[in-house]
Amino acid sequence: EAKIRLDRVEKKYHGTSVPAVEELSLDVHEGEILVLVGPSGCGKSTTLRLINRMIEPTGGKIYLDDEDVTTVDPDKLRRRIGYVIQQIGLFPHQTIAQNIATVPRMLKWDKARIAARADELLHLAGLDPEIYRDRYPKELSGGQAQRVGVARALGADPEIMLMDEPFGAIDPITRERLQNEFLRLQAELKKTIVFVTHDIDEAIKMGDRIAILGERSVIRQLDTPERILAF
Ligand code: ADP
Ligand code: ADP
Repeated sequence: EAKIRLDRVEKKYHGTSVPAVEELSLDVHEGEILVLVGPSGCGKSTTLRLINRMIEPTGGKIYLDDEDVTTVDPDKLRRRIGYVIQQIGLFPHQTIAQNIATVPRMLKWDKARIAARADELLHLAGLDPEIYRDRYPKELSGGQAQRVGVARALGADPEIMLMDEPFGAIDPITRERLQNEFLRLQAELKKTIVFVTHDIDEAIKMGDRIAILGERSVIRQLDTPERILAF
């Protein structure tokens, strides 16, 4: 009953001899935050990009709800999986409302529904819609912009969130606030989340379960953050 299952996945990038990941097997349960932690270059981002099919594996299989992802329509995947990266890159010439409703707009919801969803998402991001919906990204602080990035990934209410060092570029005090806010949000939303970080403290704080990656594959899966301390 894994929500996401990686079965002996390998990814060898074109023109490289050493795989970025290999023999990578991992289960992510519904409603949990599974943290992938490990040093830079060990294949964390690659793993996320494999799950949402930005890239294709060169070996092994990936399943969502026991369905081979290679058989799922890419548009449907985009609706089911939200993706947050460190530098979210809001579109500078679009308003905050347009930015935050990127996925609903892509999915061509009708105008009223998009506007209502944009306001909901602004609330989630802690921004008053009256004040912020028609403003532009450059008027946001770093913390606010990253909140918009997280809310944008929730645009079409996906079942799964892939989060690649989402708070990595934020100052430590704001980062701690965003972590806490996100954990509160997750307590309600109960998304299935794969959360990537190279920061062990963040892993312990955010993870229901933690998988430690060495070079290229999982070296240890832990049921709870507490057990990482004994490792
Ligand atoms: P992490 O997210 O853990 O820092 P990555 O998944 O970004 O690691 O990278 C894993 C390995 O794959 C690294 O050796 C990196 O250089 C390599 N890599 C990542 N993206 C590409 C790419 N597009 N082409 C070739 N090699 C890549
Ligand atoms: P946050 O905790 O949301 O990241 P900050 O402490 O960085 O907030 O910023 C405090 C306030 O200053 C924010 O509510 C934001 O409205 C405002 N602010 C920060 N940077 C800018 C900016 N470049 N333009 C306009 N307002 C800004």
